Amino acid sequence: MKILIIGAGIIGNSIAWRMARAGADVTIVERGRAGQEASWAAAGMIAPQAEAEGPGPFLRFCVEAKNAFETILPELIAQSGIDPEYDKGSGVLYVALNEADRAELAARAAWQREAGLQVEEIGGERARQITPALSPKVIHALYMPDENRVENRQLTQAFLIAALKAGARLIEDSRVDAIETRGGRFSGLRLQGGELIEADAAVNAAGSWASVIRGTEADHVRLHPVRGQIVCFQARPNLVGPSIFSLRGYAVPRRDGRVLAGSTREMARWSKDVTLEGMESIVRAAKDMLPALATMRFREAWAGLRPATADFLPVLGPSPSIPGLYYATGHFRSGILLAAITGRVLEAMITGGKPCTDVTPFSAARFMPSAK
Ligand SMILES: Cc1cc2nc3c(=O)[nH]c(=O)nc-3n(C[C@H](O)[C@H](O)[C@H](O)COP(=O)(O)OP(=O)(O)OC[C@H]3O[C@@H](n4cnc5c(N)ncnc54)[C@H](O)[C@@H]3O)c2cc1C
Repeated sequence: MKILIIGAGIIGNSIAWRMARAGADVTIVERGRAGQEASWAAAGMIAPQAEAEGPGPFLRFCVEAKNAFETILPELIAQSGIDPEYDKGSGVLYVALNEADRAELAARAAWQREAGLQVEEIGGERARQITPALSPKVIHALYMPDENRVENRQLTQAFLIAALKAGARLIEDSRVDAIETRGGRFSGLRLQGGELIEADAAVNAAGSWASVIRGTEADHVRLHPVRGQIVCFQARPNLVGPSIFSLRGYAVPRRDGRVLAGSTREMARWSKDVTLEGMESIVRAAKDMLPALATMRFREAWAGLRPATADFLPVLGPSPSIPGLYYATGHFRSGILLAAITGRVLEAMITGGKPCTDVTPFSAARFMPSAK
C-alpha cells in the first residue's frame, strides 16, 4: 500500500512510523523543514490531568494516550536511537495563590478523583517541601504524581528517524496544494509546483494549515491557529522538580536547567510573533509561582500555532466524502501527549483493523451539516 502523509510534525511523523513499521510504502510531504512548527514550539507536557478542562471522552482519551506513549517509548528509542528525555515521575504541582484559585482547584481535584486519577490536595508548606523554589504566597496545591514531561523536539525527531529507518521517505520544501480524486476516491496530492504524487491513501496531518489544502471543502473540517508564546530561562538543573502550573500559566523544567514558561492563547491569524504583552503575562504568572526566575538569565522566547477545530477536539479518521483520505489534526494543546495514540489509531483505521480505543467523538463526520 502506498500512502502519503501531509506534514512532518509530531503527528505526521508518528503515523509515518506506524505505517512504515507495518510494511506500507510511506512518503511524508512537508512544506518547510520537518518538525519546525507547533511540535517544536510546545512545552512537552505529557499531562492529561493538568491539561484537561473536565471529565468526559477527551480526558479518557488523554489518559489512554499517556499509557500508549509509555508503551511505545522503549521501541521508539531503540529504533530511532534518540532519547526524548521522558521524565517519568516528575509530576505536576498545580498551585493556588489565593482563595479563589483554591476553590477552583478543589473542584478540579473532585472530578479527577471521580475519574480514578491520582491527585493529592496539599498545603503550601508541603508544596514547598516538594519544590523549595515555590513562592511563599502559594497557599495550596494539587500534586499530580503521574503527570510527566518530555523533550518534544527530540520526540518529534525520534518519530521521524524511526519512520525513515523503517523505510519511509521525507520530501521537504514541498507544499501540498490540493487533494486529487479519481472516480470520487483519493488518487494523489498536487504539489504547489504542479507535480502530482499518486498513492492509495493520504493522511492530512498538516496541523493548523490542514484546511488550507484545497479539495476537501465538502468535509467541512476547519482548522484555525491559536498562538502560544513561551519564554525560556536558564536556571540551574533541578531548581524546579515537578512542572508547576497555576490558573494563569506554567513553568516546565528541562534536564539541562532551562525552564519554559508559558503560555498565551491568542487568535493572531498566522503570526508567530512574540509580543511584549504576551511575554509580560507569561513572566508575571511564572514569577508569582517561582520568584527565583526573576534573576535567572533570559535565554529566548518563541511562539507556535496550536491547530484547533471549532470544538477544540482533534479530528481523527476517514474523510466523510473522499474514501482513501484520512485526517489526523486539531490536536490543539495536546498533540505531544496524543502523538503516540494517534499513530496507533490511524494505523488501525488505514489497515482495516480495530482502533485500540473509541475515537468516534473525534470523527470528521461530526462537522458535516447532516450531523448537526
Ligand atoms: C506554546 C505551545 C505549547 C504547547 N505545549 C504542549 C504540551 O505541553 N503538551 C502537548 O501535548 N501539546 C502541547 N502543545 C500542542 C502541540 O504542540 C500540538 O498539538 C502539536 O505539535 C500538533 O502537531 P502537528 O504535527 O499536528 O502540527 P505541526 O507540528 O504544526 O506540524 C504540521 C506540519 O505540517 C506542515 N504543513 C502544513 N501545511 C502543509 C502543506 N500544505 N503541505 C505540506 N506540509 C504542510 C507544517 O509545515 C508542519 O511541519 C503546545 C503548543 C504550543 C504552541
